[in-house]
Amino acid sequence: MLLYNTLTKKKETFVPIEEGKVGMYTCGPTVYHFAHIGNLRSYIMEDVLEKYLRYEGYDVKRVMNITDVGHLTSDADTGEDKMLKGAKREHKTVMEIAKFYTDAFFSDCAKLQIKTPDVVEPATNCIDEFIHMITVLLEKGYAYEAGGNIYFDTSKLKEYYVLSSHNEADLMVGVRDDVEEDTNKRNKADFVLWFTKSKFEDQELKWESPWGTGYPGWHIECSCISMKHLGERLDLHCGGIDNIFPHHTNEIAQSESYTGHKWCNYWFHVHHLTDKSGKMSKSKGDFLTVSLLEEKGYDPIVYRMFCLQSHYRKPLEFSYEVMDNVATAYRKLRNRVAALDAAGEADLEQAAVYQEKFKEAVGNDLNTSSGITVLYDLLKANISDATKLYLVKDFDRVLSLNLAAGPVEESAPAETVDAGLEQYINEKIAERAEAKKAKDFAKADAIRAELLEKGIVLKDTREGTLWSVQK
Ligand code: AMP
Ligand code: ZN
Repeated sequence: MLLYNTLTKKKETFVPIEEGKVGMYTCGPTVYHFAHIGNLRSYIMEDVLEKYLRYEGYDVKRVMNITDVGHLTSDADTGEDKMLKGAKREHKTVMEIAKFYTDAFFSDCAKLQIKTPDVVEPATNCIDEFIHMITVLLEKGYAYEAGGNIYFDTSKLKEYYVLSSHNEADLMVGVRDDVEEDTNKRNKADFVLWFTKSKFEDQELKWESPWGTGYPGWHIECSCISMKHLGERLDLHCGGIDNIFPHHTNEIAQSESYTGHKWCNYWFHVHHLTDKSGKMSKSKGDFLTVSLLEEKGYDPIVYRMFCLQSHYRKPLEFSYEVMDNVATAYRKLRNRVAALDAAGEADLEQAAVYQEKFKEAVGNDLNTSSGITVLYDLLKANISDATKLYLVKDFDRVLSLNLAAGPVEESAPAETVDAGLEQYINEKIAERAEAKKAKDFAKADAIRAELLEKGIVLKDTREGTLWSVQK
């Protein structure tokens, strides 16, 4: 397969270290809130990649961490632990929050036909491994203690910015909000391996370590969890593009300093899902989830098809208009497959021709939309229904669109309104949120009433204010 590698910035032929086997690591979710459909775009495309590698005959072992400690609100090692923020928001313990949102994550994944990785490991399970790696980094002179924290010393590396240029990385830090300088750092790019002096005394989860009671930094967890299950040489590492810097850059720095050799050969990054206002993010507080799509009447699998129809290395803008088109296309596709006559034997020689075409498409840097085109072509082709059905099921091992699950009834149209009204509703919701923030509840209620007069019902949820058309 040809795969774009962020490390070499080229499309390369994928060659694993051990013939026929692939070690694949995926950065898992930070479980302080629901995953938004942007996060899930990354996990859908990584799932297709894993399934395509299996389709090509590789024996894949996939490992994912669950970030339940150490991921601060700012990637520059300042701010609050996101988990603590979630716990405070919901008046629960960090572990309760972690359990609730880990379950919610896997339930969303199941709805999107995302296979659970072979190993799923929460960071809080691996404290001993983190302490061991940090100890070795200190012994080798790659780490130092300052102000009670342990830092990685990026000046010890010949090359630190291996995944992105220095300038790109600087720009990325520059645009991030709440970047504060940590005066303990010897170099601007240094990062925390172990915190003992957090600005937040109420950090709930803390462990004993040779450097005092504290908790691990976010980056160390992925290096350790990957090595624990996949060894010191890794074939493939995945994540969304925001992970390139600093997270993956730091993972490479500490892993290669620890082992003394190259760690991971291929880096796969999925571009972001955006909405009209830009990148979707959990910290915005108001975001799109799988349950919200379901509430609006969409089968979550339609969102999977929405993602598969565009290339993972391009930004993708979410819109209900496109979702509606995909929902119609999906229904027609399922019904076409359901109408195939399953009787008779598939012609495997003919099937092989289409399997080759499918591999040429998807095997070319995971071009899933071309893969779907091959699917449409074969449904139109002059071959037997049995062969068609055989191929549909075969391709669905990679696409996972439930294509042979029977016909789909035409459902009631999703709740849509014209674009002008939608913009008006969104503006009013924003205005109402401002009013609520300013404790002007009379104004907030007046806005609610104004919308209701137009047949729009508002519902305040943990995911923000949702609207629906009055039934
Ligand atoms: P998090 O739970 O914030 O650690 O993120 C989980 C995964 O989602 C990471 O691989 C991120 O890079 C990825 N991600 C975050 N935002 C987006 C987005 N808007 N579109 C696609 N992937 C994203
Ligand atoms: Zn990671």
